[in-house]
Amino acid sequence: MEKQASPTMSSHHTFCSIIPPYILDHLAQSDEASVRRVAIEAIAQSAAARAVRATMTMMPGFAAVPSPGGKLHRLIYDVEQGGFSQLPGTLVRSEGDPKSSDPAVNEAYGYAGTTYNFYKRLFGRNSLDDRGMTLISSVHLGQNLNNAFWTGEQMCYGDGDGRIFIRFTKSLDVVGHELTHGVVSHTCNLEYKNESGALNEHLADVFGSLVKQWRRRQTTKKADWLIGADIMGPETLAKSLRTFTEDKAYENDPLLGTDPQPKHLKHKYNGTADNGGVHINSGIPNHAFYLVAMELGGKAWEKAGRIWYKTMLKLTTTSQFADMVETTAESATTLYGSGSLEYKAVAMAWKAVGF
Ligand SMILES: [Zn+2]
Repeated sequence: MEKQASPTMSSHHTFCSIIPPYILDHLAQSDEASVRRVAIEAIAQSAAARAVRATMTMMPGFAAVPSPGGKLHRLIYDVEQGGFSQLPGTLVRSEGDPKSSDPAVNEAYGYAGTTYNFYKRLFGRNSLDDRGMTLISSVHLGQNLNNAFWTGEQMCYGDGDGRIFIRFTKSLDVVGHELTHGVVSHTCNLEYKNESGALNEHLADVFGSLVKQWRRRQTTKKADWLIGADIMGPETLAKSLRTFTEDKAYENDPLLGTDPQPKHLKHKYNGTADNGGVHINSGIPNHAFYLVAMELGGKAWEKAGRIWYKTMLKLTTTSQFADMVETTAESATTLYGSGSLEYKAVAMAWKAVGF
């Protein structure tokens, strides 16, 4: 596979929104005017964010603000319902500051810290860039905005409309997902389209879920294996945005439609929407990871997570699904030996999803 850098994207600038375009499109076609209105607002903010991103890629050096002490350093800003052009907003809580009266500020601060500690304690990684980069978050983005973003430099969270989604800081796996995009940017830097993009989304989901499982000290059997369960509002029956299990996260939901994620290679999406299905086809490797973790039992971050972390360091910008299959097998062999249970679990899982 020939390596080719995209001329419009600088190296560390994946832009991710936690709500995939297919959900926003579905909401924009709702029969209810109020649902359509907030969906269109969310789509407009995504477009605005991409425009801001395009400008930022021309300003190298803005990213990766170093932490003064080379250790956990968080800055939380309030953008006070402003849009992307107002980012980051007013600084409201710095590292070591006492709690705020605003729960969104405290959640953004707390979960960024949990994610930092997860990477530090389990993998010896010092922040997203492994050099103590400051973790910057802005809360209260937009008005009733149904989305959260990783812009390439920082996290930003909408408040949700309170009906379909509630405030996006409530979910540790959402925070872990978005910050893992930062880790990916500083490691294999998978190009955000087609299979490499689906692998980028996959790694963000895997470590997002693992941060939550680690924080809750859950075994593979106790874990819910859901992404976004804590941000679903009272008016949707959907239990989450995505699930690692063989089930669908939602089906014929009046607001969200049906979860489009395949769990087997034969159902892979080959269209061009969603950057070539980055939030769709990630379902295939997600399910493989789940099968490995369930086969090995215990706590998913201890073995399956270790194999996947090692793999993340070895992949390249243009890695495809086949490279992922090969590299996870290699990593399992390096860590546990060629005939090991861990290696066999990895091989069996990929086979089960069609490789
Ligand atoms: Zn993402």
